[in-house]
Amino acid sequence: MERKFDVIVVGSGPGGYKTAKLLLERGLKVCLIEKSLFGGTCLNAGCIPKDYLYNLAVSALKLKQVTGKTLALDWRGAVSKTQERVSALRKNAEDFLRRKGLEIVYGEGELVDEKVVKVGSLKLVGDRIVLACGSKPKEQGIHPEDILTGKVFPEGKILIKGEGPSACELAFILKAFGFEVGILVRDRLLSSLPQIPESFSAKLEVAFDEIGIEVVGEETRADTIIVATGREPNFCSEAFPFIKKRPDGFVEVDEYLETNLPGVYAVGDIVPPMGAGFAFEKARVVAHNITEGKSLTFEPSNVPVVITSAYEVGFVGDPDKVARTEHLSMSLNPKSFVNHKGGILRIGYSEGGKPLFLCGIGYGISEVVNVFSSLMGGSFSHPSYAELVEEIFAQTYVGRN
Ligand SMILES: Cc1cc2nc3c(=O)[nH]c(=O)nc-3n(C[C@H](O)[C@H](O)[C@H](O)COP(=O)(O)OP(=O)(O)OC[C@H]3O[C@@H](n4cnc5c(N)ncnc54)[C@H](O)[C@@H]3O)c2cc1C
Repeated sequence: MERKFDVIVVGSGPGGYKTAKLLLERGLKVCLIEKSLFGGTCLNAGCIPKDYLYNLAVSALKLKQVTGKTLALDWRGAVSKTQERVSALRKNAEDFLRRKGLEIVYGEGELVDEKVVKVGSLKLVGDRIVLACGSKPKEQGIHPEDILTGKVFPEGKILIKGEGPSACELAFILKAFGFEVGILVRDRLLSSLPQIPESFSAKLEVAFDEIGIEVVGEETRADTIIVATGREPNFCSEAFPFIKKRPDGFVEVDEYLETNLPGVYAVGDIVPPMGAGFAFEKARVVAHNITEGKSLTFEPSNVPVVITSAYEVGFVGDPDKVARTEHLSMSLNPKSFVNHKGGILRIGYSEGGKPLFLCGIGYGISEVVNVFSSLMGGSFSHPSYAELVEEIFAQTYVGRN
């Protein structure tokens, strides 16, 4: 059987989901193909369950700081509640797009040529195709996704291998839930993000020490080892034989996110940098280029990144364009008493004094980074309440461009 659409999207994670949503809102006929759970890694096993558990963890820890009492949190109960919430969100998201007219086909999509995607015996023909196949862990083992979804329940002493955002975030959550946690760091915490200075890594390490997370340089004995050593594009060449890949496995795209095949675009983690916030921005760029002609380029520095751990750490903008840098202590804020434990902001300016870059560590950094980004004309970190602003404006005028 053959069906015709304006656009076919492969993958329903943040990249595919947002591209489909924006194209439907612009009146196009869209089909989305998904081989697993609607919402991809972000909704089912990444950002959303993590955010839910982080909020419980941070509340418990704050309570301990104020009362001196440790709240006994129930990990199994919290994970099971999180999964209930995720299922409800998954259903809402799917229903929401169906009501906008989205056709969803479950199964594995294979690109037959630049206009045709096959799912089993079904032939889907699209004027444009958007690939949003996501990513997978680089190394075998128990991964943060397994812990956050309750597929694996951690036992005894836990060692988390890795020093990136997922490792730092999970270490904090598990510690707040009462587990004995160590983190195996080869270089320094968050070293994969060059925007974050060494002094911030050191401050986070001090906070880990204060709450009892052991930072180790060598593998130590542990009952549960969690592998959080990075992810790679989930892009299988057999399913997409004509699409050119880079030597590092990412899909090769031009500045408009079009692949080597005209009319075939790529968004999300198959194009660097990885992260749901970037996936949403790539989706915005591709939806614009499909409907308005290739005129919008992808600019990663417009996307704020926030890591929620023993502190919030975040940044937005381009540090390489900065002429002058200023450091501010967040406790100097004379207007409020929110900064019970001082944070630090590093702000970069142009020659003429225009703010171009912000990096911060402390409580409430996501709020500061998102407001700063908005002033720069950038987007919002994910997940955040600030994202709602973009959604509200998308209803009245479509997108920032
Ligand atoms: C533990 C963890 C925490 C995270 N926390 C954050 C965070 O706080 N903030 C943030 O910005 N990012 C976070 N991320 C990263 C974020 O989840 C990913 O960057 C994001 O999900 C990538 O979106 P995507 O659309 O590229 O792919 P995915 O969300 O991976 O979705 C891809 C989808 O495509 C489907 N698919 C693949 N191939 C095919 C095919 N051939 N046919 C049909 N369907 C196919 C897959 O089944 C999948 O559902 C986190 C990740 C993890 C693992």
